[in-house]
Amino acid sequence: MTKIFLKRGKEESLGRRHPWIFSGAIDRIDGEPDEGDVVDVYSRSGEFLARGHYQIGSITVRVLSFVQEEIDGLWWRDRIAQALAVRRAVGVANDPQTDCYRLVHGEGDNLPGLIIDIYGGTAVVQAHSVGMFRSRMAIASALREVYGDGIRAVYDKSAQTLPFKADTGAVDGYLWGGGEATEQVVTEHGNRFYVDWGIGQKTGFFLDQRENRELVKRYSAGRTVLNTFSYTGGFSVYALAGGAREVVSVDSSASAVRLACRNAELNFGADVHHEGVASDAFEYLKECGRTFDLIILDPPAFAKHHKVLGNATKGYTRLNARAISQIAPGGILFTFSCSQAVSRELFRTTVFTAAAIAGRNVRILHQLTQPADHPVNIYHPEGEYLKGLVLYVE
Ligand code: SAH
Repeated sequence: MTKIFLKRGKEESLGRRHPWIFSGAIDRIDGEPDEGDVVDVYSRSGEFLARGHYQIGSITVRVLSFVQEEIDGLWWRDRIAQALAVRRAVGVANDPQTDCYRLVHGEGDNLPGLIIDIYGGTAVVQAHSVGMFRSRMAIASALREVYGDGIRAVYDKSAQTLPFKADTGAVDGYLWGGGEATEQVVTEHGNRFYVDWGIGQKTGFFLDQRENRELVKRYSAGRTVLNTFSYTGGFSVYALAGGAREVVSVDSSASAVRLACRNAELNFGADVHHEGVASDAFEYLKECGRTFDLIILDPPAFAKHHKVLGNATKGYTRLNARAISQIAPGGILFTFSCSQAVSRELFRTTVFTAAAIAGRNVRILHQLTQPADHPVNIYHPEGEYLKGLVLYVE
């Protein structure tokens, strides 16, 4: 097995169980590893530190284990079983009202580079590293062993998430079971949704907003609701379930808006008070010429890197100021940022600036984050990404 030796002093972060080794920390490589190979990492003085997946790029090794153990079928089964045990403890894997949840959240489950989402009887696997992609059949076998009859299909959706330069030739499709169809109805807190993991964004649905959607439901009775960046209408369906007077879903993707309308109908029939608008969210706010009692802002990550933080902050400020000014007196704003690069403090400052620009009195009612099936490894704080504020706008 290839041995990677670190520069003097560069073993410290591994000592703190941080699971990444950056290219700058490496002194020398004994061997010629292929991308995705399992390699061993040593200190300069030859002490074993970790075993992980090798990849060309700024993160050169993603740690699988801090001991010298075989990464074999048994190992995969054990890690998947541990992830499921956490979801059972949390209550999502055994909730009769919910059949979709995140089973593996990368570093949060000690499996860097791997995402697995469960949609009813289908597991959707998404590899973000070459090592995880090359392990996909072992992962599929482990899923079958751990779940038994609990899953009927495993779908691989890694084509878009693997590094472009790695040239893996990945094509999305079923690794096991499944047939042709990629659309299915799932249930979340008793609400039903069409999810299509073949053509949908991410693995098909934004499972990370489940708990926050439930909170929207609590605030929706009798209110007019605008759900911007609605995707397939997750928040919209909960608002309707909570007794909203009227819900408007706005997303720039026409196919997402179509699915939002189908989801509203699936739950509440053809007479539902729901309108879908395919439009840029900012343009819609500017041109709709009205206020709403509750607005949801859940934009995509404006800042993918620290370098573009300045522009991203301006974008968040503009959007939030616009939304705050269009909330009816006594209304509510749910505002989110899913950019990992935007800290909780920076996000709050941004929303503070927006409130000041809008010139309204604003109280923070709730401070939100990602749900427990998207756990954060305490040694890898970078895993915390979702931030939300619920505001009362006077
Ligand atoms: N709230 C959603 C997830 C939102 S993901 C849920 O709970 O499921 C972000 C969404 O923003 C995507 O659907 C994307 O199509 C949409 N989007 C990106 N840029 C946009 C823009 N400028 N205006 C409106 N929607 C946009």
